[in-house]
Amino acid sequence: ALAATLAVIFAATGIYIIDRALISSTDKLVAGAMRFAAGDREREIDVQVPPELASVADAFNVMTKQIVRQERALATAARTDSLTGLHNRREFDRVLADQIETAKDTKQSFALLMLDLDFFKRFNDEYGHPAGDSALVQIAEVIAASARESDHVFRYGGEEFAMILPAMRHDRAVAAAERLRKSVENTPVILPNGDRRTITVSIGLMLYGADTSQSQVVGMADRALYEAKTGGRNAVKVAT
Ligand code: GH3
Ligand code: MG
Ligand code: MG
Repeated sequence: ALAATLAVIFAATGIYIIDRALISSTDKLVAGAMRFAAGDREREIDVQVPPELASVADAFNVMTKQIVRQERALATAARTDSLTGLHNRREFDRVLADQIETAKDTKQSFALLMLDLDFFKRFNDEYGHPAGDSALVQIAEVIAASARESDHVFRYGGEEFAMILPAMRHDRAVAAAERLRKSVENTPVILPNGDRRTITVSIGLMLYGADTSQSQVVGMADRALYEAKTGGRNAVKVAT
């Protein structure tokens, strides 16, 4: 009778322990899945027993890592221009808003340069769109090479580029824009047949002062760019 009682007690205790472990591991799996659904990408699910649920946790962790990789790739693609590899217009809007906030907080100016290639339609007409695409890539490289570590370079759209130069004074911003204009002029693009051809750029420069909205900042740089175009192109004009 004693042996039978002990056997029942041991069996009940064993079942209880296994039951607790199962509930605890299942809870961890559910909590981990809920955390992931809520946006937590940091923590893995840690389940050791039973081996069957540990395998489920491992598979879940592999799957979440894969999703995180895909999310990062998508986020990068969403802010990148596929032709030139520069940041795109969407990222331009985000960085500009950010710079305006920083400038308000720190009272430090930043410069915005809007660049537009001169007579680029003619270039396409003369050499074809693939050569035009290649020219855009080469000029993007020239622009990016002129940037400091802290500067931001964008393809704004078509044959238009933009640059944001944080923590800039007026004279330095003008000098930087002039240097950039000259680099583009002095770095001929290489055509598919190996020939070289000079492309020039017109630049509108706007130095952020106080209390200017994002659309005003872009509008002022655009007007300066328009002046550079109407003034004969291959020039830098400063917004007033
Ligand atoms: P302007 O000096 O007044 O700026 O003259 P433009 O010819 O550069 O200006 P316009 O706006 O008339 O033409 C822009 C041209 O840029 C037209 C279009 O074919 C070309 N372009 C825009 N995006 C691309 C692109 O992704 N690839 C190529 N190959 N050409 C492009
Ligand atoms: Mg244009
Ligand atoms: Mg143009």
